[in-house]
Amino acid sequence: MKKLIAGNWKMNASLAGNEALVQGLLAGVGTPACDVAVCVPSPYLAQLQTLLAGQQAIALGAQNVSAHESGAYTGDVSAAMLKEFGVRYAIVGHSERRQHQAESDTLVAIKAERALQAGITPIVCVGETLQQREAGLTDTIVKQQLSAVIHLVGHCISEIVVAYEPVWAIGTGKTATPEEAQHVHSVLRAQLQAATEHADRIRILYGGSMNAANAAQLLAQPDIDGGLIGGASLKAADFLAIVAAAQ
Ligand code: PEP
Repeated sequence: MKKLIAGNWKMNASLAGNEALVQGLLAGVGTPACDVAVCVPSPYLAQLQTLLAGQQAIALGAQNVSAHESGAYTGDVSAAMLKEFGVRYAIVGHSERRQHQAESDTLVAIKAERALQAGITPIVCVGETLQQREAGLTDTIVKQQLSAVIHLVGHCISEIVVAYEPVWAIGTGKTATPEEAQHVHSVLRAQLQAATEHADRIRILYGGSMNAANAAQLLAQPDIDGGLIGGASLKAADFLAIVAAAQ
């Protein structure tokens, strides 16, 4: 299966900075053997749509989507709006939103469904905190998080991307070892297999301090089908090195 390397710029962007970063990415990306995407803050979608026009190597992604279709939801951005700007992927349930915006498993599942209905691939993030890992709850937590999505979207589950992101590894420089990550990915794969006969084509990304130095080893694991990259997606050379490691 084709791997996916997706950058999550988080709340790091500016008109000038985006232009320089995208120019660097387009200059070096060539024709990658994997899928590549950048998930950018909503105000920059129009800029990115223009910067990425006329090429196939890098797709556009969003970092969130509203759980509602339209109407009186001040500040929300709907899936249909994202679609108008050429968005192919939308991150849902990132741990930073689960933590700071109190997003529940159910809300995340509704967001995933909204994205799918608009023809956008949700990148559904799951992952345990350090406390949960130390209590031996990792498998239980990630299965619970994914289960909400499986139950809501039904047979469309084969259209999603999953990202396993241990919360203790995000932005900390601490990475799960390839074996630790592979274990959780295999748990998630088994859960998907129980839900659909197409589980083998669902990409399960790893995220959490993935960088140019550790990417190849992580991406060599049988159930790691790509990466969701935060910090290392903000420099063209670092991100491109991860893209190269995925080929
Ligand atoms: C992320 O935010 O999805 C992420 C993986 O961040 P970082 O790579 O910086 O740990």
